[in-house]
Amino acid sequence: MAVDGKDGPPITITIDKLHQMMGHISPEAAKRLVKEFLISGIILNETESPKSCD
Ligand SMILES: [Zn+2]
Repeated sequence: MAVDGKDGPPITITIDKLHQMMGHISPEAAKRLVKEFLISGIILNETESPKSCD
């Protein structure tokens, strides 16, 4: 699944969704990916707290 969004407008996803997209990484890692590594085309919706998942 393409996540760079270079061919379209930015998409807004929740931390939980990014967690799933990236292979169930930790919520903290998901936030770092967006904030530090700057995945283009992704806007993180931080108003929804991540659900527990296993
Ligand atoms: Zn998960």
